[in-house]
Amino acid sequence: MPMHGFTDAYSTYSMNQFVLIRIENDDGKIGYGEAPCTVTVGFYGETLESTTIAIRNYIAPALIGADPLNVRKAILIVNQTHGAAFLAKTGIDIALHDLAGKILNVPTSTLLGGAQRATLPVASEIGIVEPEQAAKESIRLVELGFKVIKLKAGNNAETDVKNARAVRDQVGDEIELRVDPNAGWSRYESLKAIKELTKCDLAYVEQPLPRWDLEGLAYLRKTTGVPIMLDESVWDPHDVIKVVEAKAADLINIKITKAGGLKNSIDIYTTAQASGIPCIVGTELEACVAAPAKLQLASSFEDLPFAVEFTELAYQNMLLDKPLKIENGCLHLPGGPGSGLYPDMKSIEQHKVAV
Ligand SMILES: [Mg+2]
Repeated sequence: MPMHGFTDAYSTYSMNQFVLIRIENDDGKIGYGEAPCTVTVGFYGETLESTTIAIRNYIAPALIGADPLNVRKAILIVNQTHGAAFLAKTGIDIALHDLAGKILNVPTSTLLGGAQRATLPVASEIGIVEPEQAAKESIRLVELGFKVIKLKAGNNAETDVKNARAVRDQVGDEIELRVDPNAGWSRYESLKAIKELTKCDLAYVEQPLPRWDLEGLAYLRKTTGVPIMLDESVWDPHDVIKVVEAKAADLINIKITKAGGLKNSIDIYTTAQASGIPCIVGTELEACVAAPAKLQLASSFEDLPFAVEFTELAYQNMLLDKPLKIENGCLHLPGGPGSGLYPDMKSIEQHKVAV
């Protein structure tokens, strides 16, 4: 599906892609999942094609006959079958939770421990652009209802600072700003840029340094006093433990796709929570049922100090049966069972490609 062009430190995205997954039980109940494939080769090393083959040829045959109410066991089967296919695992995991939720007539958030809130503040990103364009984009996002904006950065630290300044001057003090260089700055650039960025009143800086440089991240936390959120450094609970030991993070950005599903996301959240590190849920430009699944996940967190990322609402059409409407900077948790919303099959048929 074509999307409004979006650039980060890795790539430019102009096409949204995902694999739609359907898991059916013996009673004809259907769980839907989305394997988001837009942010692919540069970051995950996986594609629409590899995801389709992992599911069709390996995971789907292994899941036939599994108990749909034993989601953990089904995920274990997936891990034993094709454990390294993160995008495929994510879509299957979302579909398994959706199916179990529909069988029990409860939302996915109940399966994850229970919803702690019915409305969730949301954020959108602005891709890497020139300062004038960033200011223009910020007006568009505020008009769409966002009260939190994250600026993508990491190609040029000087431009990144100018962009933050331009957006802060444009939106005033009411809008919360965050900056994400996607591991694109050096230690030196980070020290210099963060010093300037503090003048723009940032909530936090996300992953300024490469994922492996926990020592550098701890140094930045100590010397700049600006909260550091880690994204690329945290893929699983073991990473959380390493990050805590290195004192490298104030916050963690969990993405369902990076974690390989909702079950793994909850495991990361619980480990971080036990260490006193709050989490948010980030975006992977979800276009279909992974978006409401993200709401289900974030709603189950006991503490959610910062907005959940929903950049997709600003850059593409959503292929869902009902719109996700921003009200007062927030989205409502959908009320239905499972993920709470259904794929918009009519639109999906129009965009469908055979793989
Ligand atoms: Mg990030």
